[in-house]
Amino acid sequence: MSDLRELIRDKKRIVVKIGSSSLTHKETGDIDYIRMEKLVRELSDIRNQGKEVILVSSGAIAAGKNAMHLKEIQAESQAEAMAVKQACSAVGQARLMMTYQRLFSEYNQIAGQILMTKNTIVDNLNRYNAHNTFSQLLKFGVIPIVNENDTIATYEIEIGDNDTLSAIVAALVGADLLILLSDIDGLYTDDPRKNPEAEFVEQVDELTDEYLDMGKGSTGSSVGTGGMNTKLIAAEIATRSGADMIIANSRDIGVLHMILAGEHEGTLFVAHEDENFDLPDFVQNLHND
Ligand code: GLU
Repeated sequence: MSDLRELIRDKKRIVVKIGSSSLTHKETGDIDYIRMEKLVRELSDIRNQGKEVILVSSGAIAAGKNAMHLKEIQAESQAEAMAVKQACSAVGQARLMMTYQRLFSEYNQIAGQILMTKNTIVDNLNRYNAHNTFSQLLKFGVIPIVNENDTIATYEIEIGDNDTLSAIVAALVGADLLILLSDIDGLYTDDPRKNPEAEFVEQVDELTDEYLDMGKGSTGSSVGTGGMNTKLIAAEIATRSGADMIIANSRDIGVLHMILAGEHEGTLFVAHEDENFDLPDFVQNLHND
């Protein structure tokens, strides 16, 4: 097996996704500033190496819930629950960005915000505009911070989870690497919390149906929305659009520079660019099966 990890050092346009469970304290659900600060320092350092970086950050709903002292989302109907979630994200996204802006400016970096829905990709004009905005921001050396526009994204137009969103962003901007930071080490042949025989998979050369089936039915942690299934959907989007993807444990945020130094951290899904991959079509059909 040739060491593809060595080639990770040369990646130039990198999307990093961090989930809510990696950014909040388990006990309180409140933002973990130390981890957030470490993340910002790592990303700033990647920028300083001359690479382009995009951050896809969750945590808006969690931050909003906390700001408004809501322990659980309590509602009498589904419509009300949706409105509460959207209100939480409106408050939380602004708070999250306020913190990111402050931390990035301490490291002399400029951050910008992009909020997306399914329509951003499916609609031709929206997609064209989003692509131009990302390109211009990267040209300016800005670090775009992306989330789903949860304040307006109801079921019909939601992507639904940030694993998928981050892969869509990677495909849209032609990134060469996507890193998903999560509370798991990577891909296992079965759920390691339930099956002690489950084996760690260090590299997926080709994303066959056998792999895609491994994620079915997994729910992951209760804080974010992504389990292994969404990570495998992300792997499909990323690898077919020509980006390598790595799932790694965010226990130590320093894993980012280890990955970029070519170390064997997490699971690597090897890119296989597919000319027939149609991003808008794929996104249109998300959640339809
Ligand atoms: N967009 C959601 C938020 O910022 C999180 C989605 C996810 O964790 O996948 O709270």
